[in-house]
Amino acid sequence: MTDSSIIGRFAPTPSGPLHFGSLVTALASFCQAKSQQGKWLIRIEDVDTPRNVEGSTDDILFALETFGFEWDGAIEYQSQQFEKYQSVLAGLLARGDCYACECSRRSLRKAHAQSGRLGLIYPGICRDKNLNQAGHSIRVNTASSGITDFVDQVYGSVTLDIEQQLGDFVLRRADGIFAYHLAVVIDDERQGINQIVRGADLLEATCLHLFLQQLLGYQTPDYLHIPLVRNQQGDKLSKQTGATAIQVDRKIPLLIKALEILSQPVDNQMQAASAAEILQSAVESWNHGNIEIPPGDIY
Ligand code: GLU
Repeated sequence: MTDSSIIGRFAPTPSGPLHFGSLVTALASFCQAKSQQGKWLIRIEDVDTPRNVEGSTDDILFALETFGFEWDGAIEYQSQQFEKYQSVLAGLLARGDCYACECSRRSLRKAHAQSGRLGLIYPGICRDKNLNQAGHSIRVNTASSGITDFVDQVYGSVTLDIEQQLGDFVLRRADGIFAYHLAVVIDDERQGINQIVRGADLLEATCLHLFLQQLLGYQTPDYLHIPLVRNQQGDKLSKQTGATAIQVDRKIPLLIKALEILSQPVDNQMQAASAAEILQSAVESWNHGNIEIPPGDIY
């Protein structure tokens, strides 16, 4: 039975195959939605087209299917939403909430822009220049952001002073590519997503999403961030750190390992079960309150 009031999603970036870290996120988001009789959607986050690796989307979907995941509705692609992103951005520009900026990373370094946890802190250089949009990036004015905070279901209270710690951030790059932060906020609203489960590398960036949701008059979903799975050197598993594609022929031990990482119950019978049976049992016994933040975790 599906109670359509809960809608979760898994939103992989097709920049490489599914690796173990993304399997853990997929499993957590699936269990969180399905344990509440909700829907679980798949959205392919291919907004940053130059980063997309051909074949990755098929690889990811094949791996998810092999691991027994079933999603609700049609798969959505950010690359098919550019008109929507553009019209939302045009609205923000018309209201004076955004402005064109000619600064490059290089010129910002020259201007001694400081580095914060989320990147270079933009010192507002172009805020009042009234530049043409063509060939320039578009930034959102964060003067009204104040202190943004939310309560994450795993990490608890998270706070960010956006203007001080990041400054006006980019919503569309000079090369015309829409920023992930804009795309994700528009898509989650458009698709009615009200439960977001994803990796803790986006924990603080969530404050940017809350700020944009408020600016656009959108609902704010519930957030649950999963501690990152790290390799032996302590790096986040990702394509950049050489994480390898998940081995589909080891799906049972890998599902069990993913459940262990999420501190969910596992039992001996799972060794002989199918992937679908393990998922079913994981949904039935899912308790997100069991998820532990590893000592020293800094997202
Ligand atoms: N596309 C992001 C990733 O693959 C996830 C973003 C999200 O879940 O909001 O890391």
